[in-house]
Amino acid sequence: MQTIALLPGDGIGPEIIDEAVKVLRAIEAKYDLKFQFKESLVGGASVDIYGTPLTEDTLALCKDCDAILFGAVGGPKWDGLPKELRPEQAILGLRKSLGLYANLRSVILFNALSAASPIKKEIIGEELDIMIVRELTGGLYFGKPKGIERTHDKTRAFDTMEYTDEEIKRVARIAFEAAQRRQKRLTSVDKANVLETSRLWRTIVTDMAADYPDVKLCHMYVDNCSMQLVLNPGQFDVILTENTFGDILSDEASVLTGSIGMLPSASVGDGKPYLYEPIHGSAPDIAGSGKANPIACILSAAMMLEYSFGAKDAASAIRNAVEKALNEGYRTFDIQVGAKKVISTSEMGDIIVKNL
Ligand code: NAD
Repeated sequence: MQTIALLPGDGIGPEIIDEAVKVLRAIEAKYDLKFQFKESLVGGASVDIYGTPLTEDTLALCKDCDAILFGAVGGPKWDGLPKELRPEQAILGLRKSLGLYANLRSVILFNALSAASPIKKEIIGEELDIMIVRELTGGLYFGKPKGIERTHDKTRAFDTMEYTDEEIKRVARIAFEAAQRRQKRLTSVDKANVLETSRLWRTIVTDMAADYPDVKLCHMYVDNCSMQLVLNPGQFDVILTENTFGDILSDEASVLTGSIGMLPSASVGDGKPYLYEPIHGSAPDIAGSGKANPIACILSAAMMLEYSFGAKDAASAIRNAVEKALNEGYRTFDIQVGAKKVISTSEMGDIIVKNL
C-alpha cells in the first residue's frame, strides 16, 4: 500500500487533482498497486481556515506519506497578503522542509499537438521529449548576502550566487541517473566563461562523468542553450542546470509543447516523499468553469508512479492513454488545434481512464 498526500490547493487545483485520482484508481484496478489518499488544505485554502498557507499538521501528513501530489496554489483573493502568508509560500516551505533540491520537468510534445507549438513543424519535428533537471534550493535565489542599501546619493541592490561542491554533486547525480534511464545524453548548462560558480559546476560535472561511462556528457553556455531550444530542440535529452538558469530555460522549453496545461514535474531529494505537480499555476481565470486541462496533473501522477513507486509500466500506460485521447481528437479548451471534440476537465479524465 502506497500512501499519497493530496494537496489540491486553490483555483483549478482541486479540479485537476480529482481527475488524477480518477486515473490512479483505474491504475489500481489494473496493476498490482494499492493507494491510500490523505488529503489536506494548502495555499489560500489553508490561509482561509488556519491563517497560514502550510500548517504543521499538513507538513507532518506529507512527511508520513510515500509521495505528494500537489495541485496549484494562489489567486487574486490572497494577493494583498504579506509575503509570509502568501499561498506560494506553501510550495517553498514544502521544498525546504522536505529537502527537495532537484526539479525534474518533463517537456513532451505529443505528435497530435505539434501544430499547437509556436515553433515551425520542420524545426520542432513530430515529437519532443526533453527532461530538464533544475537545481532548486541554491544559487542566486537563496545565496547570502542579499539586500538593498540606500544612501543619500545612491541605492544599491545585491544578490549572491553561490554553490558548494556537494550541492552540485547531488543534483548532477539525479541528472546522470535520469539520462541513464533515457537516451543517455546529458547537456550541462552553465556560464563558465563568466561565473566562478559555473566553473566549479563544470569541473564537478566533468569529474562525475567518469562514474557514468554510458552517458554522453556535453557542456553548453546558457545563452546558447536558450537559442538552441528554439533552433534545434530535438538535440536535447536531459538538460542539467542551476536554479536561475533552470527557471528561465524550463519556462522557455514548456511553451514548445503548445500549452502550459500539458507539463508535469517532480521535485526530488535524498529521501521520500517526492513532490509531483503540474508546472502551471491555479489559473483563477478559468477555475470552476470545467475548462482546465487535467493532463499536466495526470502526467505528474504518472511521474509519481515511475519515480516514487518504480511502476514504470503503469506510468507508460497513463502516457499512452493520454496520447490516445489526443490522437482521437479530444481536446480541452487550451489545446484546440486539431480538435475533433472540445471537452471538459472531467470528460478528459474519463476518456483517459477509458483508454487505460
Ligand atoms: P497560471 O499558470 O495559473 O495561468 C496562466 C494562463 O494559463 C492562464 O490563462 C490560465 O487560464 C492558463 N492555464 C494554466 N493552467 C491551465 C490548465 N491546466 N488548463 C488550461 N489553461 C491553463 O499562471 P498565472 O495566471 O500567472 O498565476 C495564477 C496564480 O497561480 C497566481 O496566484 C500565481 O502566483 C499562482 N502560481 C502557482 C504555482 C504553483 O502552485 N506551483 C505556479 C505558478 C503560479
